[in-house]
Amino acid sequence: MTNLSHGIVTFATLYVATQDVFIAGSAMLGSMFPDKVEGPLFRFIHRCYSHWFVLYAAALAFFWTPEVLSAKGIQLWQMGIAHMGRMFLFWFFAGGLLHIVEDAVCGPVPVLYPTKRTTVLPRLFKTGSVGECLFVIAYCAILYMAAAGGIKI
Ligand SMILES: [Zn+2]
Repeated sequence: MTNLSHGIVTFATLYVATQDVFIAGSAMLGSMFPDKVEGPLFRFIHRCYSHWFVLYAAALAFFWTPEVLSAKGIQLWQMGIAHMGRMFLFWFFAGGLLHIVEDAVCGPVPVLYPTKRTTVLPRLFKTGSVGECLFVIAYCAILYMAAAGGIKI
């Protein structure tokens, strides 16, 4: 999946789930991290350590506080910059974890070992294809209808 698609799908998912732009925006930035961190080595080490869910799960456990799910808006400012940074990093790495799930629908990702990629979900489209564009549009439309219908995802 392209970075643009990762950003759109992650932002839409977390905004519908939380109704919080800070959370959705933090996760959107984090959803671009796994591909961006590969840098110029993208062609050689793509979907390796940067796409191993264990690292993101460990980061989520490290940055977890009970307030990451409840603090909103002005509460964030009142809690101080250190707490706000911790919340940003929690949702940033949550976005990274969503990136891996999103990549799993368009190819293999590492599961047990960071250097061994496995197909875990059926491949729905090729990265950068018209199919990916249609998937993103359909996914956002379903989220919109679910949110408009009052269904909490
Ligand atoms: Zn990726």
